[in-house]
Amino acid sequence: MNNRLYGNLIFELSQPGRRAYSLPETEFPEYPVSSIPAALRRAADAELPECDELTVVRHYTNHSANNFGVNNGFYPLGSCTMKYNPVINEEVAAMPAFTSLHPLQPADTVQGALAVYRGLEKSLCALTGMGEFTLNPFAGAHGELTGLMVIRAYHQSRGDTKRVKVIVPDSAHGTNPASAAVCGLEIVEVKSTADGLVDVADLKPLLGDDIAAMMMTNPNTLGLFEREIPEITRLVHDCGGLMYYDGANLNPMLGVSRPADMGFDVMHINLHKTFSTPHGGGGPGSGPVGVRKGLEPFLPMPRVIENADGTLAIDNGCADALGAVSAFTGNFLVALRAYTYILTLGKENIRMVGPLATLNANYIKERLKDLYELPIDGLCKHEFVFNGLRDKSTGITTMDIAKRLLDYGYHAPTIYFPLLFHESLMIEPTENESKETIDAFIDIMRRIAHEAATEPETVHSAPHNTPISRVDDVLAAKQPVLTFRQLKN
Ligand SMILES: *Cc1c(COP(=O)(O)O)cnc(C)c1O
Repeated sequence: MNNRLYGNLIFELSQPGRRAYSLPETEFPEYPVSSIPAALRRAADAELPECDELTVVRHYTNHSANNFGVNNGFYPLGSCTMKYNPVINEEVAAMPAFTSLHPLQPADTVQGALAVYRGLEKSLCALTGMGEFTLNPFAGAHGELTGLMVIRAYHQSRGDTKRVKVIVPDSAHGTNPASAAVCGLEIVEVKSTADGLVDVADLKPLLGDDIAAMMMTNPNTLGLFEREIPEITRLVHDCGGLMYYDGANLNPMLGVSRPADMGFDVMHINLHKTFSTPHGGGGPGSGPVGVRKGLEPFLPMPRVIENADGTLAIDNGCADALGAVSAFTGNFLVALRAYTYILTLGKENIRMVGPLATLNANYIKERLKDLYELPIDGLCKHEFVFNGLRDKSTGITTMDIAKRLLDYGYHAPTIYFPLLFHESLMIEPTENESKETIDAFIDIMRRIAHEAATEPETVHSAPHNTPISRVDDVLAAKQPVLTFRQLKN
């Protein structure tokens, strides 16, 4: 349990003169501190906390226990959720044979690591139908930017400089319009129908010779498969634009259907979602970008290439290519985890990921839709969206429900996204959760709905069992306190 004595900041636990581990007397008395040039020496001692060892250990151990991750409990965060992170991946990624490599080593001394890159690129091609992949981008958003830069390079290589607009559905993940803006492209929004799918009638008048691309997520952020996808890709291609696929959450599609077959030209995948790397606190990530045949020359450098004699090399050459979007060839250990994941599942088992993710999501949806408002009924894929409680008279909001879930030891679902509904509550169970885990979550969701009706104040003032209660979201985002000033007494 959290003990206040060990909470707070390590500086607040400091006692003058308190020591933990002490270094032995110097073994080199011939080099006293005074032999360091005065200009390189501190004028005054650094203000460091002074604590005994147990205080330090307990302070950090207790802080680490305040974190919630998939190893603590169920984590139904829609869209961005952590999928399955098998422990064997961590063991492989910790092997010194991999961790002790240096990216500047000569290629003939790192053939194994290059084989991991090349093997993963080929596996991703097989799973998506794309012609070629680069593993260089460090995140999903970075992949989107890279993919859009590839698209721009393609249009420019043909002298087609009028194409400055990108079409983005109103249900898209926020990174889609953001990446397009960072790429210097103009964003045009296309609306969704009442069924939550891209509105083809709304799309048609947007098309023209200024369209560089259309970005889509399929299944979209409502967890719905875009049924009109052949028509949409045909329309966009007919106007000369390319189709971009946001494959951050590819799990419902694995081994079931391939973005290239749906007509997409460029895509990214989040290895740190779909292909098992724990992602929290901003990294590490990997957002490989795939392109259909014909677009390979525009991929960024460096690339891992195969020599005629079967050996592998790193190509830094740069003809039509974008140049570099990252240091070296991306986050190697994330790629290694993804490759381990794919090889341990194999062709047969990877086919089960999509159906199981879909089954779990539909099971939760069907068992809760009598109490939670389901704005778009029907089959979903890996995730779905409720619009708060059905009974709106309780005044209990999606925020209240999310906070109350924390009391019961669950990570909150994604809330207030997508923006299509006022009280969005987006739930994704992932493919690997047991029926018992899912049933227990359903029971708690039903209990919260019951509490909302019988003791709304308990829900409205939640959480009650967490280290801190509700924070001011706006203040936390706009005026975060990130530094600590020692009060002198
Ligand atoms: C997570 C996510 C992204 C962005 O990925 P990052 O690695 O967080 O940059 C893009 N699109 C969708 C649909 C996502 O779920």
